[in-house]
Amino acid sequence: MPKKAKRIIVDTKLCKGCHICISVCPYGVLRKDDEVDNRGFFLPIVYDLEACKVCRLCEMECPDFAICVVE
Ligand code: SF4
Ligand code: SF4
Repeated sequence: MPKKAKRIIVDTKLCKGCHICISVCPYGVLRKDDEVDNRGFFLPIVYDLEACKVCRLCEMECPDFAICVVE
């Protein structure tokens, strides 16, 4: 069975909106939010959860340990 993500959680306190997670995802799962948060950062949002293959590249490359994929 291919892996499927149940949820992708972005810690809105830890995330600094660097978008590394967006650029490393091979499947276009994440996108930049249209609006800034209360600190002025464009946080990543889950655009296509179904497309996630739980490769965990986003988790591994996030410098702030701010993203977590729940399988
Ligand atoms: S686990 Fe892989 S496929 Fe899923 S969002 Fe992260 S980088 Fe993309
Ligand atoms: S890589 Fe980490 S800190 Fe950067 S936008 Fe993604 S979740 Fe936020």
